[in-house]
Amino acid sequence: MQRVVILGSTGSIGVSTLDVIARHPDRYQVWALTCQQSIDKLRQQVELFRPRVVVIGDADAARQAREQFRAIDPQLEVLQGSDAMEAVAAAPEVDTVMAAIVGAAGLEPTLAAVRAGKRVLLANKESLVMAGPLFMQAVRQSRSTLLPIDSEHNAIFQCMPVQHREGLEQCGVRRILLTASGGPFREASLEQLQTVTPAQACAHPNWSMGQKISVDSATLMNKGLELIEACYLFDTAADRVEVVVHPQSIVHSMVEYVDGSVLAQLGNPDMRTPIAHGLAWPQRVESGVSSLDIISHARLDFSAPDIERFPCLRLAREACAAGGTASTVLNAANEVAVQAFLDGRIGFLAIAELIEKVLSACDFYEPIDIAAVKSADAQARDKAVALLP
Ligand code: NAD
Ligand code: MG
Repeated sequence: MQRVVILGSTGSIGVSTLDVIARHPDRYQVWALTCQQSIDKLRQQVELFRPRVVVIGDADAARQAREQFRAIDPQLEVLQGSDAMEAVAAAPEVDTVMAAIVGAAGLEPTLAAVRAGKRVLLANKESLVMAGPLFMQAVRQSRSTLLPIDSEHNAIFQCMPVQHREGLEQCGVRRILLTASGGPFREASLEQLQTVTPAQACAHPNWSMGQKISVDSATLMNKGLELIEACYLFDTAADRVEVVVHPQSIVHSMVEYVDGSVLAQLGNPDMRTPIAHGLAWPQRVESGVSSLDIISHARLDFSAPDIERFPCLRLAREACAAGGTASTVLNAANEVAVQAFLDGRIGFLAIAELIEKVLSACDFYEPIDIAAVKSADAQARDKAVALLP
């Protein structure tokens, strides 16, 4: 029986994780759930999964939950705040941690799980983008098992040889082909992009996801973050990772070998597949995802991304090449810009413009510890906020 903590259980990934877990009560037991403030959803999850602990970020929401949840389970511990999230992620009772908080807030709880040597299912790509070298060093030191949940990285992991941690060169890997749906505005002109609304940006054609990653998918920053994520996860340089636009989202990514073989992982676009893979690896379990009807799909298209219309991809490549805190700054500026777009303060095209300005206003350095990463993150946020209209 694996005891599982879900960080960010009320979000899109959290809900999909619980859906998979519910299919296998003999294999997985939910030990803790965490969320920022959506306690109505959390209450339903508590009723169904009966965790031992819940952690809520927001203090008011935690107070309300303490009163409300007592009636469901008087034994349930209701904790509050980010320190408590780190504590449950590292608790000795726990085997597996699903890291599904959105954004920079996920870094420290995810790292706490890594440092405690847990099996970590990584959905929170921002933590790798912010602190890749320190994060991967912690993985090696603690011998934590890190399993990628982002569908592309999970696909790449599935197409890699078992011994890929010894180095891609030694394993005969030539390059990684990272697929991108192209988002809702794949065919939109620059002129049309000027006036798109948050609702349009959040309506992804293939995937149902939280708001932040939906906007990231629309700007292609999601692919930029994933490029950086891939470099850290598979210890490779950015020029070995090619982004390929594939609007059907059936091929979730590919790995090319020196002999010319290209291995791909295919499936319906449903996050329960990579989640089930991460939960059960190296075994396989049912995920609830229907069989791929490849005949009805009939054709799969591939093309190069357009960096003119989607400059976020170029900014991410540049930040990746610059190294050090450049990708920390990229991530922080993006989080501020996306929130400002969702709040109606800036237009869609201003997201990339703001990030570019913040990147050119910041000095980058090699962070020696997480405090240095947090300081680069905070400075970039301050600069981004100051540049908002
Ligand atoms: P979401 O917005 O649906 O859910 C986010 C979760 O994090 C919620 O439970 C929320 O309560 C919690 N949260 C938000 N702010 C927090 C804070 N400050 N402190 C603690 N908890 C906080 O997001 P999502 O779509 O489920 O994405 C989660 C992560 O997984 C992101 O990093 C995203 O990039 C990644 N991811 C998501 C998908 C997807 O299909 N949704 C796919 C690949 C990767
Ligand atoms: Mg992805």
